[in-house]
Amino acid sequence: MLNSDHDPVSDASQQHTFPKPEGVMEALHGLLHEVERCSAYEDPRGTSLAQQVIATAQELSVPEIEVRARLALAWTLLEQKPAEVLEHVQVATRLAAASGDPALLAQAHCLSARIAVSASDTPTILREAYYAQQHAQQAGHREHLVHAHSLMGIAHLLEGNYSHALVHQEEVLKYLNQVLSPSLKTVLLCDVGANFNDFGTPHEAMTFLEQALAITVEHDLHFARILVRENLGQTLLQLGRLEEGERLLREGLDEAVAGRYDRWEAYFRCTLGEHLVTVGDVQTGYEQLIRATEAARRVHDHYLASTSASTLGRVLRRLGRLDEASYHLEVGLKIAQSSNLLGPCKLAHQELSEALAQQGHFEAALGHFQQFHELAMKVQLEESRRHAQLLIVQQELDREREQSRFQRQANDELRLAHTVVQQQAEELARIASEDGLTGLANRRHFMTRLRERLSGPAFAIAFIDVDHFKDVNDRFGHPVGDQVLIHLGQIMRRYTRPEDMVARIGGEEFAVLLTIPDASRAWEVAERIREAVAAYAWSQIVAGLNLTVSLGFVMSPEAQDQDRLLKLADTRLYEAKLSGRNTVV
Ligand code: GH3
Ligand code: MG
Ligand code: MG
Repeated sequence: MLNSDHDPVSDASQQHTFPKPEGVMEALHGLLHEVERCSAYEDPRGTSLAQQVIATAQELSVPEIEVRARLALAWTLLEQKPAEVLEHVQVATRLAAASGDPALLAQAHCLSARIAVSASDTPTILREAYYAQQHAQQAGHREHLVHAHSLMGIAHLLEGNYSHALVHQEEVLKYLNQVLSPSLKTVLLCDVGANFNDFGTPHEAMTFLEQALAITVEHDLHFARILVRENLGQTLLQLGRLEEGERLLREGLDEAVAGRYDRWEAYFRCTLGEHLVTVGDVQTGYEQLIRATEAARRVHDHYLASTSASTLGRVLRRLGRLDEASYHLEVGLKIAQSSNLLGPCKLAHQELSEALAQQGHFEAALGHFQQFHELAMKVQLEESRRHAQLLIVQQELDREREQSRFQRQANDELRLAHTVVQQQAEELARIASEDGLTGLANRRHFMTRLRERLSGPAFAIAFIDVDHFKDVNDRFGHPVGDQVLIHLGQIMRRYTRPEDMVARIGGEEFAVLLTIPDASRAWEVAERIREAVAAYAWSQIVAGLNLTVSLGFVMSPEAQDQDRLLKLADTRLYEAKLSGRNTVV
């Protein structure tokens, strides 16, 4: 319910276009929130808003929003537009599976199971509810978990498996107060109430159904109120509070008809009809039952159509109107047979057997009884088969979980291995391109860079050779010679920029690549290196040490290719040596 002046629903539907791209996601989330609120509170304005959100989410490719909007819409339309609901749930399930979000998957499977409840399709309910339960557990989502348990309870009750149903019922009761959506909570309370009725404990049922009724009044929930009335009506009849029960059923029936909830109309008429006949109002009861079968057929609910026809037959049989009874029971049987509904078939055969026996047609009665007996065994068999199926599903899910755990582990290991290999490769690349003593680039790296640069703008290179280096080694020893090489590397780096390159290309030979297109400025750098080496305080390494270098300088446009460029640098270095060393040529 909206109590504030600001009404996001009508605001949103007037806006249609979003103001700014960066605001779109925020706006969409806001609208989705509203859609989910509408769904939880049976606010009819949610339907068109949901469709709008779905379309926008598709346009912007935001599947997680599309899924949530579809699921919210499916819940809203559940009772009125089953075909649409099915499509939304199917699309949502596919998108949720792709995203791998367990909470969304749980919600989608709950809805699939709910749809199957309408058709009393117990295998589907069990399977879908089981998936929902597993995903809800994985997501730690209580609301979906409770819902899943409730659905499993329904399935077991439909199968007549009371002990299993009770186990799930207990789980539902344990966490019911954690369900926030009033609409879902009412449905779950009704599930509990219906179960207690089936267990033969209508007093307990009353407690929960009254809670449900209070919620529908508090939040003005229209459909939920119909649902509660149906359950409350039945419970009151069971408790012998016939007038109250009948009144509720009639009110519920009126609402169901007005709201075009056809399936609920059939339910109400069936319950009401049986009650009326029981209390002696045969004609009205009979009419209600007839109309129940019509309503059931209208919504193509074969289960309901068959059971209401059989109920009609049973009522007529008790009244002694045996021919009519047989007729309706045959109808019920035919519908059940056409859809292969074991439960309703069994019921119809049983009633027909009784009716025919009452009429003295013992042979035909025996035939139906045998059919009934066979079906009873088949139902039993079917039940154990289904149980086995459930175990298989459980096993598959376990295996899937185990596999995905395995997969994750393997992925982590691969990622780690990849990182290690990458680091090793980087280290190798570094080693392969670096000179071990000075940390400068090595010859190969220098040549590679040189080749790359050739196609670009003009640059300079200088070959640098230490003057009389043999003497250094001879006078001070090889280790001092090594120290000198390291210091030389540092000096050259200091006088060049990061984008330039300094390399050790031989024993005591260096090369610099200066990314300076202007020849005179590049020459200046070469000259500064020469000066810096000559002026360096070499005596800090060892007393009496002095050092100079000779440089062969060349600009890239001076030669046509790499070989000629290198050759030229070499020649000029040689010329520098010849012209007395400590010079740039
Ligand atoms: P020049 O002025 O003509 O270049 O005279 P030079 O003595 O420097 O002659 P040359 O360039 O031919 O000398 C190379 C010497 O460098 C030979 C070798 O002993 C020395 N050398 C080469 N590599 C290393 C090294 O890694 N460490 C040390 N300490 N000495 C090296
Ligand atoms: Mg040399
Ligand atoms: Mg030398």
